Amino acid sequence: MHRAPVNKIIPSSVVDGPGNRTAIFFQSCNFNCRYCHNPETIHMCQNCGACVATCPVQALSIADGKVVWDKKKCCGCDTCIKTCTHNASPKVTEMSAEEIWEEIKDNLFFIRGITVSGGECTLQAEVVKELFTIAKDNGLSTLIDSNGSYDFKNHPELLAVTDGVMLDIKADNEERHRWLTGASISPVLENLEYLAAVNKLEEIRTVCIPQQLNSEATIQVAAEILKPYLLKKDIRYKLIKYRHFGVRQEYRDFEEPTPEYMEELKALAEQSGFRNIVII
Ligand code: SF4
Ligand code: SF4
Ligand code: SF4
Repeated sequence: MHRAPVNKIIPSSVVDGPGNRTAIFFQSCNFNCRYCHNPETIHMCQNCGACVATCPVQALSIADGKVVWDKKKCCGCDTCIKTCTHNASPKVTEMSAEEIWEEIKDNLFFIRGITVSGGECTLQAEVVKELFTIAKDNGLSTLIDSNGSYDFKNHPELLAVTDGVMLDIKADNEERHRWLTGASISPVLENLEYLAAVNKLEEIRTVCIPQQLNSEATIQVAAEILKPYLLKKDIRYKLIKYRHFGVRQEYRDFEEPTPEYMEELKALAEQSGFRNIVII
């Protein structure tokens, strides 16, 4: 049985895809974005023990050299997250698809579907595939929120149980993408084209920072690749304002975009062929 590290499950979310959805956030990511708002999801816990003593309600302990989290005692104060210098969290549970389903199945009548996110959820592709198979058998739609690093083309079995992918387009070229994420842009752009071609591209998203990222160029690169598909499918483009909240201290000095700048980007996206553009 496959298992995967789960950071948290939000029973009801209206910001992780269309309609009311249950969102499952997996731990660990293969990118290291400077603007990451959940940096505690990037790495797995190294069991250094530093956070254990800081927990005000003794919900953390060490057994056999590993940090153990007592969910029932935890009051959710996030002191452990603030203590951790490894971009990790002690509040992670290894779960199988069946165990995740057990936790979310009572929402069945209140949600339209489930969304998997992270971290980078495709690092847990086996569990995602098994979970989506169960969800589809129960009439739910299935969405993946991805940084675009996964080789979707060569893993059709995952897409077979996936209704759509919400794909991050973080930059316009290799240099800026590496600067921002530490990873190559090539698989992301290949996925952009491939997912559109097989009609699995639900949405693309770009976080906009006026000085450091050329969001204008990013929109144009995305539009150029999607040009043949935009007339056939209304692919949503979410333009996300960079915000300081939750970002690591060393990356907090990026300038937040003004509403006027975001409107200019929206107008550019419209001129470039997108018809469904959302600013958040
Ligand atoms: S979030 Fe929970 S585990 Fe972490 S310090 Fe607070 S009570 Fe302890
Ligand atoms: S969560 Fe961070 S601080 Fe706590 S034990 Fe793991 S690596 Fe250490
Ligand atoms: S891909 Fe997402 S989770 Fe991973 S580092 Fe970037 S913003 Fe954070």
